[in-house]
Amino acid sequence: MTPTLMAVSWVAISFLSISYWFQIYKIHVHKEVRDLSIPYHILLALGFGILIWTAWEENSTIFIVKQIATFIPVCILIAQILYHRRDHWHDDGDVNCSSCRNELEYGWCWCPYCGKKNPSCTEVNEDNNKQKT
Ligand SMILES: [Zn+2]
Repeated sequence: MTPTLMAVSWVAISFLSISYWFQIYKIHVHKEVRDLSIPYHILLALGFGILIWTAWEENSTIFIVKQIATFIPVCILIAQILYHRRDHWHDDGDVNCSSCRNELEYGWCWCPYCGKKNPSCTEVNEDNNKQKT
């Protein structure tokens, strides 16, 4: 591998590893993990973990570092998802669903928990939601 190719590879490894830390920081701040998939992260960790072993067998330093640098943050993400799985975003100004009593975020016209329409939803809110999608 040429020195330039090697340098570019190390930069790419840094980007890959750092990207996971942004997700970790976001969960740390918001404590909200309902949109994150636990099977996705477990399969990622298993894949990275197995590739640490194969990289070790092949004596590839750069590949070992890459796998460890991505395996560790994915394991932290799994721990965060498990730790925060019952935490929910909360705002005192938000209304509760008239059917299941779960909290509805501002502007939500449909309850994500039971699927019923929020009676306090105005047509303006519904129009705004349609424009976002
Ligand atoms: Zn509901």
